[in-house]
Amino acid sequence: MVQIKTKAIDCQHFINGQFVSSHNNKTFNNINPATEEELGVVAEGGKQEVDYAVAAAKRALDGAWSTKTLQERSQILRKIGDLILERQEELARLESLDTGKPFSLANSIDIPRAAYNFHFFADYITSIGTEAYQQDDQALHYAYRRPVGVVGIIKPWNLPLLLLTWKLAPCLGMGNTAVIKPAEWTPMTATVLMEIIKEAGVPDGVVNLVHGFGSDSAGGAIAEHPNIDAISFIGEPGTGTSIMKAASDSLKKLSYELGGKNPNIIFADADMDEVIDTTIRSSFINQGEVCLCGSRIYVERPAYDEFLEKFVARTKELIVGDPFKDETNVGALISKEHYDRVNSYIDIAREDGGTFLTGGKRPEGLEKGYYLEPTIITGLDRNSRCVSEEIFGPVVTVVPFDMEEEVIMQANDTHYGLSATIWTNDLKRGHRVAHQIEAGIIWVNTWFLRDLRTPFGGMKHSGIGRTGGMHSLDFYTELSNITIKL
Ligand code: NAD
Repeated sequence: MVQIKTKAIDCQHFINGQFVSSHNNKTFNNINPATEEELGVVAEGGKQEVDYAVAAAKRALDGAWSTKTLQERSQILRKIGDLILERQEELARLESLDTGKPFSLANSIDIPRAAYNFHFFADYITSIGTEAYQQDDQALHYAYRRPVGVVGIIKPWNLPLLLLTWKLAPCLGMGNTAVIKPAEWTPMTATVLMEIIKEAGVPDGVVNLVHGFGSDSAGGAIAEHPNIDAISFIGEPGTGTSIMKAASDSLKKLSYELGGKNPNIIFADADMDEVIDTTIRSSFINQGEVCLCGSRIYVERPAYDEFLEKFVARTKELIVGDPFKDETNVGALISKEHYDRVNSYIDIAREDGGTFLTGGKRPEGLEKGYYLEPTIITGLDRNSRCVSEEIFGPVVTVVPFDMEEEVIMQANDTHYGLSATIWTNDLKRGHRVAHQIEAGIIWVNTWFLRDLRTPFGGMKHSGIGRTGGMHSLDFYTELSNITIKL
């Protein structure tokens, strides 16, 4: 692949169908995490911009969007998906510049999946029915769906366009309007999506975008706005708590997809080559900055040495560096702040007596950029914060186990409950262990295999509610039960 020339963009808000600056012209700088250089400037919104955006969304909800039929909305969603694919390479470049992830990853996964989110819901919304109950000859009851209203969509930075579209597509499909706040570190692809949305024929005001920060900025203003009816949030549990408090006065409907500290449980009878291939991905893809990454690896003792030998060897082969080079497997972490945070866990592991089998430092020759070698640590007690807290970087811990009950207990020994992976060729054990793991998404002999019809989300501190298929549509609708006396 030829080295791709990159051109970043400045980012404005998108309110009522227009790109606009902040009322006070405030901006902040967008930094490239791979070079630490400035990419451009971003409008910094706050309460006033959110007020404008909500007013536009409210008008569109009762006006232009409400008059579109289901078929028309479906066609518009399809068109948005098509336009994303037309601009795939440009979007992948911007995503890679903003996040530091390999361009090849953005181009093969993030952007195609963003398009598919729209294509999937374009079809799905036209295929659903509604509940109906006949009560003898007395009455017929049926559930009538209507949009929930103006939805606030607050996003993280790790899979920016993929996760935004995962929420926006069903939101629009069910007739709602939206006020979006992308993560401050990754404003670019959301901004381009607004151009696409306009070109696809979405009426002005239906989708609005306000850039900015968290609690005292655009994020907080969305969380507490009295005319926002629901909030779809993806991010950290602590932020979820703040949003819930701010949203409580207006009793908003909430959908949360939060963090994870996901166990990867490997029994000795598993196919070790498949385990290694997939565990390399589930540990280090996207620099380990995926909520579903299996950062706690438990290996049954008879397979422990073989696993470590192969896993460490393969990890050492991973190439860390320039996200735009073909051969790069692992790019840069998102920001200085996050880089320091991930490194603080490396320090904790050292203090707690962990053994570093590989990684734990900046790769040689990469003086600029937030790069960290993929890191494998053994010998840590389960009380080490490195084992119990989400690191959200290319860092995994590996622990041997002897008994099934013991590994289930360790896997569940966390506040999180997002996902888990179980490797075994014993079918009964696969089911038995899966039923006991406290997680919303459990893979047996695979990882990150998704079907968008299935329920997706976490339990415990990893989320509230589920998305995917009907679960997404349920969140974005209000149901009225209508009873007709016969
Ligand atoms: P974050 O919680 O720091 O920020 C997420 C968003 O919330 C950002 O747009 C931020 O500006 C905004 N925000 C921050 N404080 C706010 C406040 N008080 N009120 C309103 N908005 C506020 O999360 P992050 O660092 O961007 O993302 C990483 C986290 O996201 C990790 O915990 C990761 O596991 C989680 N995540 C979960 C999923 C999932 O599907 N479960 C997917 C991706 C990421």
